[in-house]
Amino acid sequence: MFDHRIHNFNAGPAAIPLSVLKKAQAEFLNFQGTGMSIMEMSHRSKEFEAVLARAIAGVKNVLGVPDDYSILFIQGGASLQFSMVPMNLAIPGKPIDLIQTGTWTKKAEKEAKKVSAVNIVASTESENFMRLPKPEELKFSSDAAYVHMCSNNTIFGTEYSWLPDTKGVPLVADMSSNIASRAIDVSKYDLIFAGAQKNLGPSGVTLVIMRKELAERADKNLSAMLQYRTYIAENSLYNTPPTFGIYMLALTLEHIIELGGINAIEARNIAKANTLYEAIDNSDGFYRCPVNKADRSRMNVNYRIYKNNEANEALEKQFIGEAEKAGFAGLKGHRSVGGLRASIYNATEQNAINDLVKFMADFARRA
Ligand SMILES: *Cc1c(COP(=O)(O)O)cnc(C)c1O
Repeated sequence: MFDHRIHNFNAGPAAIPLSVLKKAQAEFLNFQGTGMSIMEMSHRSKEFEAVLARAIAGVKNVLGVPDDYSILFIQGGASLQFSMVPMNLAIPGKPIDLIQTGTWTKKAEKEAKKVSAVNIVASTESENFMRLPKPEELKFSSDAAYVHMCSNNTIFGTEYSWLPDTKGVPLVADMSSNIASRAIDVSKYDLIFAGAQKNLGPSGVTLVIMRKELAERADKNLSAMLQYRTYIAENSLYNTPPTFGIYMLALTLEHIIELGGINAIEARNIAKANTLYEAIDNSDGFYRCPVNKADRSRMNVNYRIYKNNEANEALEKQFIGEAEKAGFAGLKGHRSVGGLRASIYNATEQNAINDLVKFMADFARRA
């Protein structure tokens, strides 16, 4: 058992910056002199409305969201967006284009198919999703309603460093696991969604950033809770929103601004990922990252342990066990990939990576 905070490499829900947790703790019992916690007050109170405004301002500031976009907070996780996006953006008779890069795009495909025909623009499934397709491999339809992509594949450890050219067709991106980790040009996307629990706070709130006019595509007979229009018209206050999650998201974005904004965060994330990938690549083949170098994720680092030129599950199990005892949590790879995975989202500090790299070198020496 630990009496201190450990190095948390969980994939999601994941680490939250310590200063954010401390701020929330300090305000927990008596929020701004109201005599109650933020969780105990009306979502229509002026105090909560101010928190909501802070969350929106934080998203706008950190991501540079243009004025013709809406910033929405929705429940149901990123997984509900797999349904909501096609329900709102599909056009009868036109296909949805989808770039197949892993488990999360497969889930999105499954839901999209319930609404429309789906064209797989490219898939790297035959290579176990260990790389992203190249731009020239993308075979877009001539008349797609929109294109769906996942900017960072949490499970397989791939991340785009480029943008698919959809030739004006609306681009929808699932950014659940790399939102606010790097600078993006929001105007190049038409809808971005992200569950908060990787980079923005606790689970229970999903951030949606969308070109406002796109919400008008949806059938007005669609259930109100499933229409983006409703959230836009009511500023995410049509029903009771996840107030505590929105509060934590506001604190997390304000923390990013204090650190110097998105460019500062991106520089930190590049340095962190470089430290870990270099340790893997320079381990004389003991640790190996199976992901195509150009597509390696800065957020989710997958690797395996090798012995006699073969991946060695027994050593991986031993590594995870010893790492846990030494205070490194969450290093087990996803069940569909195996091996090891270190999720190093915004809240993971460089010193945690440095300690992990030291532990890895020591383990390799002993093994
Ligand atoms: C975690 C994750 C999801 C699923 O999010 P839920 O909030 O659990 O629905 C979807 N897409 C990506 C890329 C993820 O990392």
